[in-house]
Amino acid sequence: MSDTQTLNRDLTLEALFEAGLFIDTGTAGLHGRSGAFEAVVNGLEALITHPADGAEVMRFPPAMGRKHFAKSGYFKNFPHLSGCVHSFCGTEKDHAGVLKAMNNGEAWGEDFAPTEVVLTPAACYPLYPMTAARGPLPHDGALYDVQSFCFRHEPSQDPGRLQMFRQREYVRIGTAEQVLAFRALWLTRSQAMMQSLDLPHTVDVANDPFFGRAGKLMAASQREHELKFELLAPIASSDNPTACVSFNYHQQYFGLNWGIVTEDGAPAHTACVGFGLERTALALMRRHGLKPASWPVAVKDHLQL
Ligand code: ATP
Ligand code: ZN
Repeated sequence: MSDTQTLNRDLTLEALFEAGLFIDTGTAGLHGRSGAFEAVVNGLEALITHPADGAEVMRFPPAMGRKHFAKSGYFKNFPHLSGCVHSFCGTEKDHAGVLKAMNNGEAWGEDFAPTEVVLTPAACYPLYPMTAARGPLPHDGALYDVQSFCFRHEPSQDPGRLQMFRQREYVRIGTAEQVLAFRALWLTRSQAMMQSLDLPHTVDVANDPFFGRAGKLMAASQREHELKFELLAPIASSDNPTACVSFNYHQQYFGLNWGIVTEDGAPAHTACVGFGLERTALALMRRHGLKPASWPVAVKDHLQL
């Protein structure tokens, strides 16, 4: 396939495997990435980084403790996406039984029990209990820079819908004024960033995929109060562009839940901007073709390719 043929062409997994950008592991939504793919991700991370903002940089492992996960409320709202690590805890006899089942291609796992470890569903989740433990916020509130692999149980053939993917987030904690100003700044910034990368996009009000019947009401309320915006760009479908960046205002949800308080003791407001790193890289590949080395010079310069 020539470069010009891949420009603005909706992406398929097959094309990404063939181009070597994604590496097939045989499991849906669990792909390896090539050096060329990672170079684009690294370039994006450099563009997202704003050292002058003075954010505290933190990196957590892609898992969190069971107690924190339970208290976070994630399972209440998104049970269908959750993932918990289980480990073998049987006897030698059980071990032999599991090996036999594995060899025969039969179901196995009954002798695996849940561990203390739950896979992180969103990069900002480990921050809230940690911030609460630090005591009341200073006058200026807090600003964090986090990045993590996240897990969501949504196996799919859509190249932009992964089970494990990276979110790079800035997270602001403070008063309503502070966190809303932060979100407005990132709405402007991220659009300028996509423009510099010649990536056509839209920004729209959005909702999270809350579970069940009550979830429908929560989603409607989230939209009505404009608590979530998304920056969308085509990946697998021009008609249904994919959310590459999310701008979330949680109001006092996490402040109340975790006991995070401002200087004067009021429950803190929080907001986060979350860049889906694989999705943003894929949107660029859909736009500019499957050979980053052949992308327009200005785009390559911005990404330091
Ligand atoms: P909150 O903190 O409110 O839970 P969040 O910003 O941490 O929200 P989302 O808004 O759900 O989490 O996701 C942030 C970004 O992560 C999305 O804009 C998207 O780019 C990326 N993302 C989400 N799900 C997937 C997925 N299955 N595969 C790849 N990227 C994803
Ligand atoms: Zn977040």
